[in-house]
Amino acid sequence: MGKINTVSSDFNVNDDCISCGICSKVCPAKNITMENNKPVFHNDCESCLACIQHCPRQAINYKDKTQNRRRYTHPEVGAKKLMGYYK
Ligand code: SF4
Ligand code: SF4
Repeated sequence: MGKINTVSSDFNVNDDCISCGICSKVCPAKNITMENNKPVFHNDCESCLACIQHCPRQAINYKDKTQNRRRYTHPEVGAKKLMGYYK
């Protein structure tokens, strides 16, 4: 399977964002920074989708592909645990 080349412009964040910063903290690639209280995506994405899955407001989407899709997280690996790994 080929690598998915995900770039910053593939992500969009809607107005439901509450500026919690979780997306930035769960990203293993440090690909998301908070600027003016909003997440900004860069071009070092590893396509893990943790940001999309762990956003508490489901505010992050990949292109137009995820808007009406459920989010999935591991029952024993919540955002807090991930944030601990990547700090
Ligand atoms: S996790 Fe969601 S609500 Fe929190 S800053 Fe990121 S996009 Fe906004
Ligand atoms: S998909 Fe994964 S690597 Fe890419 S920005 Fe989101 S959390 Fe970071």
